[in-house]
Amino acid sequence: MKRAALLLAALSLAAACEAAPPPVIELPPPPQPPAALNRKSAASPRVRVTIAGGPLTHPAMSAAVSEIKQLRLWGGMTEHLTRLHIRARPGERAVPQDRHLADSLYRTTRTDGRYCRVTFYPRAMRDDLAKQRHYYSQDRLPAEPPTMDEFWVAILAHELTHCRDRISSRSEKVALRVERRVLKGLRAR
Ligand SMILES: [Zn+2]
Repeated sequence: MKRAALLLAALSLAAACEAAPPPVIELPPPPQPPAALNRKSAASPRVRVTIAGGPLTHPAMSAAVSEIKQLRLWGGMTEHLTRLHIRARPGERAVPQDRHLADSLYRTTRTDGRYCRVTFYPRAMRDDLAKQRHYYSQDRLPAEPPTMDEFWVAILAHELTHCRDRISSRSEKVALRVERRVLKGLRAR
């Protein structure tokens, strides 16, 4: 039962990702640092994080980062990056034509190194949750939809997984699995 509810959320994200795949620059994986350095970077990630948002979206994105850290997933999701930019494009006009909820872009640049940009579309997220709640009220969704706060966290984890696994063709499947794990982790506390 739970799977079906998550599947609906998953499908909207899956559709989002398929409809507007982030531009991908195929590159060999970054060289792996020695194990000792790896451990160190997991403990204190070097990624430089910037969050761009307004009075409503900025706290939501900061909270999502904190939650992923508390779930101890942050290091594994960001240690390969040198820069992470998280932003929100609020309002109906910003919503992409296919109404996807968020997307990510990974690239390597001279100035930013290994760069990941995650973009949220909060209006589309709210609409998607409203739809899920409607289905849930009609018993067409067996499990309660996430809250908006949980949705920010789960979607950030999803998009970070894409930045991490950009070369893998299984990325969407893995991102959806990570998302489910995050929701489960949030609810288990
Ligand atoms: Zn995706």
